[in-house]
Amino acid sequence: MIKIDNFNKLIVANWKLNGDLALINDFKDRIKPENLNINNNCLIICPPAPYISYFTGDDYILGSQDCSVYNEGAYTGEISAKILKEIGCETCIIGHSERRIIFKENENSDLISKKLRNCLNNELIPILCIGENIDQKRKKMTKITLKNQLNIISKDFNHKNLIIAYEPVWAIGTGLIPSLDEISSNLDFIRNDVLRDKKIKILYGGSVKGSNYKSILNLDSVDGLLIGGASINIDDFSKIINF
Ligand code: PEP
Repeated sequence: MIKIDNFNKLIVANWKLNGDLALINDFKDRIKPENLNINNNCLIICPPAPYISYFTGDDYILGSQDCSVYNEGAYTGEISAKILKEIGCETCIIGHSERRIIFKENENSDLISKKLRNCLNNELIPILCIGENIDQKRKKMTKITLKNQLNIISKDFNHKNLIIAYEPVWAIGTGLIPSLDEISSNLDFIRNDVLRDKKIKILYGGSVKGSNYKSILNLDSVDGLLIGGASINIDDFSKIINF
């Protein structure tokens, strides 16, 4: 398992259902593994699952965008945590809001908790995504929403092998971002009041781009960024990873 507490800032690229072989070639030409992971920072690339193996053997740190709740058996189309580990993944995004919203029955808290365990049992670091939607924000229910979403983390989970990504649903892909104070206050709440672990790694995600990443990444409370759209724009992304 990679030792995440050794890292300073973590940048996770979530390609979602985007990218093709041309993008992979361009990415590998312009973003070389030897220029990454310097100054104790870490870049994790999460392409669509069939493309993961195009990056293996080149020293990139890889992640999956999801894993199955099942470990093996008659589950056509599923990909287990064990398979992801075997093909070279070190991490796995779990509970992304797009999955919670679009694939509701496959991404409820019971199943997310099973996926977390499957990851940990197979030495994959889960990146657990949590965040409030716009209604919850308007009703001032952000903190209670975050607390409820974190209920699945049982006491025996080793926080050293877990990354939390705070991603307000209303900020994902919209160009909107919370104020820096809001980000800090929500991350402090997760760290100090809910998980009570000053060292837990917490990322921010939601409309991060070349023009706004610096001020967010400079916040003490932010251990890194989860980046969707801007991670497939290589000009923008090169700026971010060379911070
Ligand atoms: C994401 O997919 O997790 C995300 C943060 O997307 P975007 O950066 O496009 O808002």
